[in-house]
Amino acid sequence: MKWNRREFIVTSTFGVVGSALHRAPLLAQPPATPEFTAVRGNVGIFTARGGTMGWLINPDAVVVVDSQFADTARMFLDGLGERTSRGIDVLINTHHHGDHTAGNQTLRPSVEKIVAHANVPGLQRRQAEARDTEAAQAYADETFDENWSLDAGGERVSARHYGPAHTGGDGVIFFEDANVVHMGDLMFNHRHPFVDRPGGASIRNWITTLEQVVADHDSDTTYVFGHAGPGWPITGPRSVLLGMRDYFAALLEYVEQGIAAGRSAEEIAQVGQLPGFAEYSGQPARTIGTAYEEVTAG
Ligand SMILES: [Zn+2]
Repeated sequence: MKWNRREFIVTSTFGVVGSALHRAPLLAQPPATPEFTAVRGNVGIFTARGGTMGWLINPDAVVVVDSQFADTARMFLDGLGERTSRGIDVLINTHHHGDHTAGNQTLRPSVEKIVAHANVPGLQRRQAEARDTEAAQAYADETFDENWSLDAGGERVSARHYGPAHTGGDGVIFFEDANVVHMGDLMFNHRHPFVDRPGGASIRNWITTLEQVVADHDSDTTYVFGHAGPGWPITGPRSVLLGMRDYFAALLEYVEQGIAAGRSAEEIAQVGQLPGFAEYSGQPARTIGTAYEEVTAG
């Protein structure tokens, strides 16, 4: 079902609107129509604002990936209630960023258990302290270092950490029977990505991670992306992952060549677009600056 604009507004008046959480996200966008979209089998996505959420709804289990914001998490719950009478067995956070975890507290009363990589609670707490949003957090009850899995009513759900990439606590969520992988913010489709270096990110290992994820799945796997540039889809095949791998490789090469030519960080970042990636939305300066820091850190 798609919600029309009127339903959205009515729903919003009962949701939590206008809190400080709205200034927290790094990738906040204007409110959009909340939408449930089936992907494959009993697995689908929810989009409203912030990082793409994932869901599994079957007669014996409900699993949710990420929670967006307090207000959009309320919209998600309302829509979920039209699809199942079950509560949420497990909420998995792909990482700690506010546009993926700020809705945790809204979902909390409906959730049996919140799961995330072991580094997520600490990073989430530090982020909340910096933004003065500590009272609005709900944290993982269960964490994993490398692997986690669950039999969810005919669907095997697993999470895997491939080392530092977008942050120091990223999880890749695999709905094994549906063959759908939720990448969280390990995937920005044609959009200059945020690389959270203070949060433990590594561009070099992000490249390795994308290659390893592709190697761990097959050509029929459908991937869900945390974000996409305007007009670009938020799901797609592995070729999109390899395209982002190529973007990062070109980014590092561009920075290394700039350094070799004796240019400063500012000079290197002052480029309208990264050569060869003009169709990416946003400005590359921040991503280039982060790449410069990583390269020069040795
Ligand atoms: Zn993120």
